[in-house]
Amino acid sequence: MINLISPQLVEKIRRNVNHQRLLDTAMALIEVPSPTCSAGAVADQLASLLQDDGFEVERPVANWPEAPAVVVRFATDQPGRVLQFDGHLDTVHLPFVPPRHEHGNLYGSGASDMKGGIAAFVEALRVLRDTHALVAGGVLLTAHDHHEGPWGDRRQLYALIKAGYIGNAVLLPEYLADRLPIAGRGMAIFETHISRDGQPIHEVLRPPQQPDVLATGAELILRLRDLQQSLESRTHPHAGTDSVFVGHIQAGEIYNQSPTECVLQGTRRWVTPDTVEEVKLEFNQILEELAKTSCTSIEVNFKVQGDAFSISSEDPIITAFQNAHQAVAGNTLSFGNKPFVDDGNAFSAVAGIPALTHGPAATGAHTLQECVSVAELVRVAQVYALTAVGYCISKRDDLNAS
Ligand SMILES: [Zn+2]
Repeated sequence: MINLISPQLVEKIRRNVNHQRLLDTAMALIEVPSPTCSAGAVADQLASLLQDDGFEVERPVANWPEAPAVVVRFATDQPGRVLQFDGHLDTVHLPFVPPRHEHGNLYGSGASDMKGGIAAFVEALRVLRDTHALVAGGVLLTAHDHHEGPWGDRRQLYALIKAGYIGNAVLLPEYLADRLPIAGRGMAIFETHISRDGQPIHEVLRPPQQPDVLATGAELILRLRDLQQSLESRTHPHAGTDSVFVGHIQAGEIYNQSPTECVLQGTRRWVTPDTVEEVKLEFNQILEELAKTSCTSIEVNFKVQGDAFSISSEDPIITAFQNAHQAVAGNTLSFGNKPFVDDGNAFSAVAGIPALTHGPAATGAHTLQECVSVAELVRVAQVYALTAVGYCISKRDDLNAS
C-alpha cells in the first residue's frame, strides 16, 4: 500500500488541528452528565456542535429511544474506503465531576473514557474537511450510549451495526496508546449455582448421603484449576493465553448449618476468535460431570462480554495507522494485546470489520480522577486525520501499489 502522507500534508494536518477548539469541544461534552443509559442530552449536545460546524447529522434511534445515536457521513466524491470513527458517549455510574482545564490537563467525567477521544474525532473531521486532505472514500462518525457495563448491554451498538452504520474499518478512542492492539481475548463472566433438594438443616440432623454443596463448590474450584493448567497451552502471539479464574464463592449462613446452595463467580477468557460455543461446551461438560458425581444440580449463567479478536498485521488499516503514527510521533507502535474488551470486539465479531483501538494516554478511567492532557488529545486528532487520509484511498490505488 502506498504511503499518501507527504511531509507537506503532515504539516498541514498538524497545523490545522486547533488546540482551543478541541479543548472546548471536549469540555462541552463533559459538562453534560451522561451515565450509561442516560446519554440523551450529551448526544443532543454533540449533534448540535456538529451541526453548528456545518456537518449533516443523522440521529438513528438504534434501539435506544432514550438517546438516539449521532452519525455524520463525511464523504469525498471519489470511490474509496470508509473509515469509521466510533465512540461511546456514556460514562460509568459515579458521582458527576464537572470539566476543568488546569496546567494543560483536562479533568472531569468522561475526560479519559471517552469524551476526550470523541472530541478528537470531531476535530479530525473538521481538519479533514478544512484541508481537503481526504482524496477518496470517506469517514463515518458514530457515537452512542449503552456501552459501560453492567448498566448497558451494548444494544445501541448492535442496532447500529445491524442497520449498516459501519465502515470498512473502525477506530475506537479508548485510553490505550502504548501499543497497537492487533489481538485481544474474549471474555465471559460466569456465575454457577450449585444446589441440592430440601431445606437448610442442622449438620447433625442431615440425612445420610445428603449432597454437600460446599464440598462440590470446593471440588469445582479444583477442577477449574486443572482446566487452567490445560488452558495455558492455548496461546496467541499477541493476545496471551486462555484462562479461567474464580474470584468469588458464597454459601452457608452459620458454621453448623448445611446450606442448599453454593454460588461461584469468575471469568473465562480465550484467545481464539469465533470459539465461544466450544468454550461454553467445555465449561458445561465440567459442570455436568460434577453434578452427576456430587448428586447436586448445577446451573450456570455464562455471560459473554465479547469474543476474542485479531487483525492481520497486513491489513490496510494497520499500514495507514502506522504511517500516521510515524508521521506524528516519529515512531510506529509495536504490536500488542488489548487488555480489555471494548466495542471493537463487537465490530470484529458482528460486523466482521477490523477494529483498532487507539486513544490518548489518559488516566483514571472508571474513577473520579479522569485526566487527559490536551497535548494527547491533539496528538490523537492528528493521528486520526492522517490515518483516514492513508486508509480511504480508492481500491484502484491499492491495486496499483501491490
Ligand atoms: Zn470506554
